[in-house]
Amino acid sequence: MSKLTGVSLSPNAPLDRRNTFRVSVRAAWLAEIRDATAIPEVLALTRVKNLPFMVLGEGSNVLFTRDFDGLMFAMTNRGIEILEDDGRSARVRAQAGEDWHGLVRWSLAQGLCGLENLSLIPGTVGAAPIQNIGAYGAELSETLETVEAYDREAGKFMRLNREQCGFSYRQSVFKQQPDRWIITAIESRLRRNAPLKLDYAGVREELAAMNVSAPTAKDVSKAVCRLRRRKLPDPAVIGNAGSFFKNPVVLSGQADELRAAHPDLPIFKAPDGKKLSAAWLIEQCGWKGFREGDAAVSDKHALVLVNHGRATGGQIWSLAQRIRDSVREKFGIRLEPEPRIL
Ligand SMILES: Cc1cc2nc3c(=O)[nH]c(=O)nc-3n(C[C@H](O)[C@H](O)[C@H](O)COP(=O)(O)OP(=O)(O)OC[C@H]3O[C@@H](n4cnc5c(N)ncnc54)[C@H](O)[C@@H]3O)c2cc1C
Repeated sequence: MSKLTGVSLSPNAPLDRRNTFRVSVRAAWLAEIRDATAIPEVLALTRVKNLPFMVLGEGSNVLFTRDFDGLMFAMTNRGIEILEDDGRSARVRAQAGEDWHGLVRWSLAQGLCGLENLSLIPGTVGAAPIQNIGAYGAELSETLETVEAYDREAGKFMRLNREQCGFSYRQSVFKQQPDRWIITAIESRLRRNAPLKLDYAGVREELAAMNVSAPTAKDVSKAVCRLRRRKLPDPAVIGNAGSFFKNPVVLSGQADELRAAHPDLPIFKAPDGKKLSAAWLIEQCGWKGFREGDAAVSDKHALVLVNHGRATGGQIWSLAQRIRDSVREKFGIRLEPEPRIL
């Protein structure tokens, strides 16, 4: 369709295989970008330049409730390289179209650590900074040094350092201003001998079950993968986007009041208050395993909404809103969705 090099531009593109909820929607235009330097040229094309715009990765953190009537970018640029290595740590650059777990495995194979607790998170490298991906006691922001991106507002390629990315729990400047920056690559500082993070619930127990008493970063990665495979429904088998709601962060006083009324409520420390378990709140409202048509709440994990086959994005979103309303009524807590709702 297009004569641009490093880009494929297609009209009326199906997205069924491009979102892990497996909802059936289309994009008016889909541009697959293999070469990031082509970005300005594609954005300037007359037939697409005034359309709504968005970037899609693997679609593991989005819920489409209708067709996307605009230009969608999918970054498919690949490559991982070590930019510098002083023997103790290395600066690693990975392009946006790389698979996130592929980067974790690659780094472990090089003897580099820091990403092991983030093993098996679905999605692309380019999407990882958007919500500062986190799991098992670690967050991307702990190792990330630089984000390379095309700034659509300034009309130029930029390098943002960690401070400029404004990272916090499931948050960044990229999430606050969606589609302003098209992330093209990230650079991370990975160490050869960093202390391992074993304190998150279940990690030590899993290592013990693996008969590992002196774990390496590879062992931690393996333990995290085993835990995740057991706890979370696999999107290759049943459509889902992982946790549908963020764990709510409340003031310490409110957490204490809730704990007094509900002694079993799990409460965790957070930099700006206390973090509550959204899964627990949802389960207490009786939603775990609930199904209406093909839209359902996983029976493995109350925080995960699933598509048993033919649910539309609208049906999944309507179920999510009912869950949110019931948690607000019972506990006075407002849940915020984690995926981007389109
Ligand atoms: C089973 C399962 C488990 C999960 N577990 C976790 C977890 O433990 N921790 C966690 O943090 N997340 C988790 N997630 C959510 C998801 O995997 C991450 O948010 C991931 O980073 C999304 O990557 P993606 O490529 O699929 O992005 P998409 O879902 O395609 O996009 C997500 C957002 O990023 C934007 N975006 C994507 N690529 C770019 C780019 N190159 N430039 C600019 N914007 C871009 C999109 O516009 C959108 O706003 C899970 C999801 C699933 C399905």
